Amino acid sequence: MLSESAASPTEQGHKLHSRRRLHEAAAAAASSDSFEEIAEVEGLIIDMRYASKNNFMSINLYGPFNKLYLHKIAAKKLRRAAVILKKSHPRYDLLVFDGLRPHSVQRVLWNKVKGTPQQTFVANPKTGSIHNYGFAVDLTLADNGQELDMGTPFDDFRPLAQPVLEAKFLAEGKLKAQQVANRKLLRRVMTKAGFQQLAIEWWHFDALPQEQAKKHPIFE
Ligand SMILES: [Zn+2]
Repeated sequence: MLSESAASPTEQGHKLHSRRRLHEAAAAAASSDSFEEIAEVEGLIIDMRYASKNNFMSINLYGPFNKLYLHKIAAKKLRRAAVILKKSHPRYDLLVFDGLRPHSVQRVLWNKVKGTPQQTFVANPKTGSIHNYGFAVDLTLADNGQELDMGTPFDDFRPLAQPVLEAKFLAEGKLKAQQVANRKLLRRVMTKAGFQQLAIEWWHFDALPQEQAKKHPIFE
């Protein structure tokens, strides 16, 4: 979680956007009619990676915006996914890393990756990410709290993380059958609940197609 060390000179994210802005975003999400806070119900564990330093940038980007929010449509589908998972795999839980992401944070993320190979994986704030509309969720599966092996960690931007290349990597022995099976289980559960998988990140799912999600207001 965010500590006072966030103010250290190495914390560039802190310089780029203020805690006050994030406090305002947290208050706006909490009082919004469109979004709802996701509680840890049965089958659902929450670990907000961008509200900690445990993410690919090693920076706490979310600060006080440290709760999981989703658009109500997505929230309903996520809870349905947890129920579906528990039915077939009672020991497993959905472990959620990210949901609604303020547009202001998207700009910070973008500035960090612009001009690097990671740029492909971060939506340009001009058009926005589906996370900025509250319709995207990043998650994995956990067995008794332990993350299942998906072949790569969350936010690993190598091609190995891309669902569209799974068959190729499996044939080449770079992904194991069990890793692909774990991804397929996550995909099956999420798809059944009404989500769509993003082709380049095994952990990312959208509750509505892009065009539909973007008809809703973006969350600043
Ligand atoms: Zn995502």
